[in-house]
Amino acid sequence: MQFYSKRNLNFLLNEVFNIEHLSKYPLFSDHNKETYDMVLSACEDIATNKLQPLLVEMDRNAPEFVDGRIKVHPAMKDLMKEFGEGGWISAPLSYEEGGQQMPYMIFNATMFIMGAANYSVAAYPFLSAGAANLIRSFATDTQKKYYLSKIYSGEWQGTMALSEPEAGSSLGDITTSATPTNEGHYLIKGQKVFISCGDYDGVENIVHMMLARIKGAPKGTKGISLFIVPRLREDGNGGLEFNDVITGGVFHKMGYKGAPIAHLITGENDDCRGYLVGDANKGLNCMFQLMNEARIAVGFNATSIASAAYYASLQYCRERTQGRRTGHYSDEPVLIIEHADVKRMLLFQRSIIEGSLGLLIECSRYADLTRVTSGAEQKKYHDLLGLLTPIAKSYPAEMGCLSTSAAIQCLGGYGFTEDFLPEQFYREARIHPIHEGTTAIHGMDLLGRKIAKDQGATLRILIAEITTTIQQASTHEKLEKIAKELGITLEKLVDVTMNLTMMGMQGEYEPFLADATLYLEAFGIVIIAWQWLKQGIVAVEKTDGSEDSFYQGKIYTMEYFYKYELPKTRALLTSLKSNSKVTIEMQDAHFE
Ligand SMILES: Cc1cc2nc3c(=O)[nH]c(=O)nc-3n(C[C@H](O)[C@H](O)[C@H](O)COP(=O)(O)OP(=O)(O)OC[C@H]3O[C@@H](n4cnc5c(N)ncnc54)[C@H](O)[C@@H]3O)c2cc1C
Repeated sequence: MQFYSKRNLNFLLNEVFNIEHLSKYPLFSDHNKETYDMVLSACEDIATNKLQPLLVEMDRNAPEFVDGRIKVHPAMKDLMKEFGEGGWISAPLSYEEGGQQMPYMIFNATMFIMGAANYSVAAYPFLSAGAANLIRSFATDTQKKYYLSKIYSGEWQGTMALSEPEAGSSLGDITTSATPTNEGHYLIKGQKVFISCGDYDGVENIVHMMLARIKGAPKGTKGISLFIVPRLREDGNGGLEFNDVITGGVFHKMGYKGAPIAHLITGENDDCRGYLVGDANKGLNCMFQLMNEARIAVGFNATSIASAAYYASLQYCRERTQGRRTGHYSDEPVLIIEHADVKRMLLFQRSIIEGSLGLLIECSRYADLTRVTSGAEQKKYHDLLGLLTPIAKSYPAEMGCLSTSAAIQCLGGYGFTEDFLPEQFYREARIHPIHEGTTAIHGMDLLGRKIAKDQGATLRILIAEITTTIQQASTHEKLEKIAKELGITLEKLVDVTMNLTMMGMQGEYEPFLADATLYLEAFGIVIIAWQWLKQGIVAVEKTDGSEDSFYQGKIYTMEYFYKYELPKTRALLTSLKSNSKVTIEMQDAHFE
């Protein structure tokens, strides 16, 4: 069963973003299209033969909490080994560190393929990679030596342990404490909730990258430190002993059930050791590295799930007959894919998936370029990546929910049943607007932090990038009109941005950020329209004299986005310019 488009991935990597350009940098010079194709094919092989067959089985047999431990699907044990041995966790690292110097454009594409086959399974190695990268960036050499090879090999699982019962979005309020000792470690005490892969029986040990507050540290985000808190710690004789990280239970969730989220209790017996990583009270700054990686990963995985749902619905629409085509006489019922409204729903899904994937590969390209450039050029890519991260996370996350819903709608009543996959994908997609920061938090991050932090300097760089694409598109007769539409919408977005930031500068903080979620949505649509224009330029150039239906399909999907999605910004931007303060003035007591 198809779950992603190899052709589209190739189109984006090679034709739109010309990945081989990276080979001019020494870090990537051993790679070329051939090696990338080999990696992607090997990944597709695992995804098709090992991950996808477990998709439904894992959904129907969720992890269980038995005798104080979480039991997951038994296949995870071998899969984690395979991910480790195959280099699927460590591929971007340098050769000296045991990696393959793989660009993130390819590494993230492998995550996309695996996520489309089975998001639950894909979550495990990705979390390990993020945790290990944090150790790699901020830990001492001794810590690196002890933990890294075990995590990259898939023997130990890495996690990110931030959330607490009373501190989810507001990490400044975490209360897990860290008491210094004379023995070089801290004693950790507190509770963590929702920790993905926070405990399970498929690996020897679990290493938590945990946020805690050192006794006496300042309140808020400035008093948070980062610790390595393993489930089992070194016993001094080369073995392992229990580190007082008790598993309190497993949460029963609505989707992606194959990956557990744990409730952890640390220091119940005052014997949980944490090892400080980086400087005291600077933990959140370090954790942002992992959170930013994770946010891009969420965007990819939201797109993965939407992709799998789209192909399931496309197949159904090509098999199911129903009704007659409006305005066309026929004795026989037609395939539902012949109905314009069904095609609209398919186009909606495709435009979300391929537009999002374009943005995510663009972001991965920026991440790669920050690894190989320096000075002002490096800063440019770093800042662009930072500015686009809230959108790359939230647009696919939010739209992935609507896209999987459209997949269900294509199947009518059958879509609502467990007999077809879209029902499962719809449930799996719902997590993405919540974890790694809710959409509201990303809206505030974009408007209140990323745009405001340098008085709009990075935004101006982004506008210049979009303007370059508009100018390129304008030289093509077929694209002139839509290029102009994007230009006009961009101007309106800038106007609204100035209005809002002015409010912020005048100290009207609540109205400034009250509709940040709407702002994020409008911004996201403009960014995806930009990505569609980029893809449209290549498709238009390739269709000249070509009968290839792929390029024609691309152009239709781009046209769909400009006809149906871009105009949605008008309503959003009108609301954002309105003086109404309804959401501020309406009080708790007014709700019935
Ligand atoms: C499946 C799953 C996996 C997870 N994995 C991990 C993990 O591996 N590690 C980890 O540490 N955590 C993890 N989490 C936790 C996740 O990051 C949090 O659930 C999320 O950050 C939201 O926190 P919360 O649940 O406490 O909701 P709250 O913060 O209570 O938010 C509730 C609502 O209020 C809104 N809200 C909150 N504050 C504001 C504000 N200032 N302005 C406007 N609106 C606001 C939110 O947007 C949301 O709509 C996971 C959660 C789930 C469900």
